[in-house]
Amino acid sequence: MQHFDVIIAGGGVVGSATAYYLQKHGFTGSIAIVEKDTTYQFSCTARSAGGIRQQFSTPENIALSMFGLRLIRNLTAEFGTGADVGFREQGYLILASEQGLPILAENHRTQLANGADNVLLQGSDLAARFPWLTGDGLAGGCFGLSGEGWLDPYSLMSLFRKAAAARGATIVRGEIVGIGISASAVNSVSLATGERLGCGSLVNAAGSGAGALAALAGISLPVGPAKRYVYVLDCPAAGEAMHLAPLTVEPTGVYFRPEGRHFICGLSPEEHEEPQVMDWEVDYNWFEERIWPVLAERVPAFEAIKVINAWVGHYDYNTLDQNAVIGPHPEIGNFYFANGFSGHGLQQGPAAGNAIAELIVHGGYRTIDLVRFGYGRIVAKAPLFEKNVI
Ligand SMILES: Cc1cc2nc3c(=O)[nH]c(=O)nc-3n(C[C@H](O)[C@H](O)[C@H](O)COP(=O)(O)OP(=O)(O)OC[C@H]3O[C@@H](n4cnc5c(N)ncnc54)[C@H](O)[C@@H]3O)c2cc1C
Repeated sequence: MQHFDVIIAGGGVVGSATAYYLQKHGFTGSIAIVEKDTTYQFSCTARSAGGIRQQFSTPENIALSMFGLRLIRNLTAEFGTGADVGFREQGYLILASEQGLPILAENHRTQLANGADNVLLQGSDLAARFPWLTGDGLAGGCFGLSGEGWLDPYSLMSLFRKAAAARGATIVRGEIVGIGISASAVNSVSLATGERLGCGSLVNAAGSGAGALAALAGISLPVGPAKRYVYVLDCPAAGEAMHLAPLTVEPTGVYFRPEGRHFICGLSPEEHEEPQVMDWEVDYNWFEERIWPVLAERVPAFEAIKVINAWVGHYDYNTLDQNAVIGPHPEIGNFYFANGFSGHGLQQGPAAGNAIAELIVHGGYRTIDLVRFGYGRIVAKAPLFEKNVI
């Protein structure tokens, strides 16, 4: 049986970053990334909208995303000349009604206290900065002055994976269908081919499959797929200013942002509206009935738009509190989780990979204290809610 010191289940942005940062922290043991689909076409990473922001309510989330930002600002130093993820630093603009304004203002204060660079805009300030927006029903908006925007998810994942492979990480194509445990430690994984691989540690980086992977070890992890739609819009009436717009989040939760000459948009459903069938079919009624009316009212230029493309992605959704679960299992201490990012794992993937590497190499966190994000809150059924889930 082939043996690896660390096996990482899943080679998306989180798994690839974990391999990369293990090496960066001086780990000299053998590393395998086991990935069932090396085209990554259905991975959450490849289907992400690529946004990065500091507009969260939980300090840990702000710190995790700022780690990603620092990486994006230092790509050449990190990965060499030519490394590029197409970062568009156009900001996020999170809008609030009268009712939502106190929460927006409270989040804004938390963000400033944690190093974010954003401003709360109201009334004529909002209208002056974003003249394409209709202010009816808006009490204000929080706008990221720097450090927020979007990037190409596939490029970020590929930079990590290629760098890790170049330094000796092995990419194993295969699906993990079994986890071997003895004396409260993972010692092997079984693949669908029947092959077994021995391991010193196992990292769960299986994205929306994380709950299913944990279940192979008899562990309950409330992370599974949640179906989301992203629509690509053509808007002939959009002027230059709209193409420089931030990723804008309406009080209803409808979001949009520029994407090249076009725009993309979406809306996360309420709990009772969650699609039950986890396929890859786009629901165009969701756009017609729930998104388009909001867009047309908020941005007059969006009255005449055409959906020219759309895709489905499966969020790696933590049903307990929509925050990541990062750290070891309390009893099976060599089984690590980096899961459940619920819509913000692209920007947090680098920091999550780094955090797992710190735990494995140094035995504790060195950069960001993520103890509150540990599996303990799952056991205690004590959610740590993030208020800004998009
Ligand atoms: C529509 C959409 C929009 C999003 N927008 C944003 C955004 O704007 N900003 C942001 O930060 N995040 C966003 N996200 C979330 C982000 O994309 C994810 O949180 C992040 O990509 C998760 O990365 P991952 O590596 O954990 O998972 P994945 O990229 O899904 O990688 C997990 C991998 O594990 C593999 N795998 C699963 N089970 C097994 C197994 N048993 N054996 C072997 N391999 C296995 C899968 O094939 C997959 O390739 C969005 C997600 C979606 C779907």
